[in-house]
Amino acid sequence: MSPAEIEALFARLKKELPRPTTELSYGTPFELLVAVVLSAQATDVSVNQATRRLFPVANTPEAILALGVDGLKEYIRTIGLYNTKAENIIRTCRILLEQHGGWVPEDRAALEALPGVGRKTANVILNTAFGHPTIAVDTHIFRVSNRLGLAPGKNVLEVEMGLLKNVPEKYRMDAHHWLILHGRYTCVARKPKCHACVVSDLCPSASSDPGGPEKEDPAATGSPRKNGGRERSGKGTRKSLRH
Ligand code: SF4
Repeated sequence: MSPAEIEALFARLKKELPRPTTELSYGTPFELLVAVVLSAQATDVSVNQATRRLFPVANTPEAILALGVDGLKEYIRTIGLYNTKAENIIRTCRILLEQHGGWVPEDRAALEALPGVGRKTANVILNTAFGHPTIAVDTHIFRVSNRLGLAPGKNVLEVEMGLLKNVPEKYRMDAHHWLILHGRYTCVARKPKCHACVVSDLCPSASSDPGGPEKEDPAATGSPRKNGGRERSGKGTRKSLRH
């Protein structure tokens, strides 16, 4: 996409949704961290259902550690991979208490050192909890970026680097949420709703078929390859908030 097209793209996404944010429910950076770890290969709705019960009981590292792995599982067993996620969250709580005074660190390396936290999760926390202009690339953003030609790439890191290079600074803070919501509700994987897409005139993959493109580009619709393989696993904060 040309710089003028990219400007038009984000101006329209912003007009549609001036203040985008995560669909995960959270009140503190720690709650967001737990919710994002739980959201791997799970829907935000299912995570919110679980955390609606969990957070009133335990929403600090101390309190979740006190629940223990088995106690935590009771709240999250409706979520896929809950056994592994429970163990990772308990280990994370211990590290936060032992190494970070019970706070979620505002630092990429420290975040990525937490169990179950990879580059994508660290980017979400840095962006949504701490206000850094990072762009986490998930399956939706990978697909949308490739279809639009906004930041083509064969893997998530290539796409992330392309987005950081191509997205104008004034849009970078909210780009993650605009793109993820566009991918989740309009530029969906199987039959993108090009007829209802506000940026269809800018998109080289646009289809006039209400059912979506006749031929789908596997590179644009398939799952992105992750880098480093550590990722296992949504305006917020606020530095003033504990955890
Ligand atoms: S025109 Fe279609 S393929 Fe392009 S961004 Fe919009 S929904 Fe996706």
